[in-house]
Amino acid sequence: MSRIPSPLFNCQQATLLVERQADAPLPVRPRVQLWAHLHLCPHCRRYALQSVRIAHAARPAAEAAVPANLALPAAARARMRLLFDRREE
Ligand SMILES: [Zn+2]
Repeated sequence: MSRIPSPLFNCQQATLLVERQADAPLPVRPRVQLWAHLHLCPHCRRYALQSVRIAHAARPAAEAAVPANLALPAAARARMRLLFDRREE
């Protein structure tokens, strides 16, 4: 992890830490810096709250079993093939 110079680091760094914190606990220093930033920044506070809500809402879909016979419809496969072919040109 890169070194963060101050508790008042920018919002881009704060939102990155919010996302990292969703995957694993942060070390003490970045956790305290994020806590300080979230106390001072209503935008990142809102981002952090929404991130938790989205993760909670998406969890059932992420944990659902994918049927073995699940296949993309032929029309969707054709659209994707067209997009891939255009990128290769
Ligand atoms: Zn912020």
